[in-house]
Amino acid sequence: MSAETLLDVVDLAKTFPNGTRAADDVSLSLTRGQTLGVVGESGCGKSTTAKMILRLLKPDRGSVTFEGIDVLRAKGSELKEVRRRLQLVPQNPQTSFNPRLTIRASLEFNLRAHGVPRRTWRSTVDDMLLRCGLRVEQGNSYPHELSGGQLQRAAIARALVTGPDLVVCDEAVSALDKSVQAQVLNLLSELQSDLGVSYLFISHDLSVVEHISDRVLVMYLGRVVEQATSEALYADPVHPYTKALLSSAPGAPIERIVLQGEPPNPADPPSGCTFRTRCPWVMDTCALERPLLATTPAGSLAACHLNLSSRPLATSSPA
Ligand code: SF4
Repeated sequence: MSAETLLDVVDLAKTFPNGTRAADDVSLSLTRGQTLGVVGESGCGKSTTAKMILRLLKPDRGSVTFEGIDVLRAKGSELKEVRRRLQLVPQNPQTSFNPRLTIRASLEFNLRAHGVPRRTWRSTVDDMLLRCGLRVEQGNSYPHELSGGQLQRAAIARALVTGPDLVVCDEAVSALDKSVQAQVLNLLSELQSDLGVSYLFISHDLSVVEHISDRVLVMYLGRVVEQATSEALYADPVHPYTKALLSSAPGAPIERIVLQGEPPNPADPPSGCTFRTRCPWVMDTCALERPLLATTPAGSLAACHLNLSSRPLATSSPA
């Protein structure tokens, strides 16, 4: 597999007019043909980051480079090309499909919007419906005639029909029940093997991200707090927040860490480490200095003063 960088995001930041700091210097990169999982609680900034990458939301600062193209400054034909090659699978296909259009018409709409010649529409749509586990005849169905799982397959087909290099899956399986979730995740993996597409896979659920991701990025209150390969993150999490998330999963191999309180107000985040108000290992320095992402002994990245001072982090919370 090529180690070519497809997407490079540097110091992306967004503060909303109400003062909410939704993304605070978020940096990430994605290798062609791979999947980067992005996890965190609701409101941690993962969807805001995705919207900025897709140019659906203007960042306050930062850069997004997609195969050498400056996405935030692209115009005209270059912007059109970026939009074709960067696609989205939203959380809720029930609301993202026009109820008055058949599935085929919705897929063709995407092809038309990206200037694909009409003569190829039928064969392209048929091929993508079949690849996504739907029958060609189901292209003639209206959204309300399909089940939730079928409709999410149609949403994946709509995203892939333009031949994108990168698909952002924003909570793409969260609305599905567990068995359908597993089927859709398997489908995404198969399509990746067949088409070489990359995914930015956003979820609040670490167990969903585990099996599909090559690397995982954990966000808390608009900041990246840990980034590691999937194997390293699940076998040996470093950041206390990652540990707490993992410990709450059913069958977790580490002792349950119960976080106290709710996430702080993102419009008025704590000084220093924004996780300090809930961290079982908090120290005096955590209120004074913002921990920066640093390489851990295992080669992951984590933003925690414990990591920087190389102090071992016990697998269970202190008494
Ligand atoms: Fe906890 Fe301090 Fe590390 Fe933040 S920097 S996660 S408060 S130990």
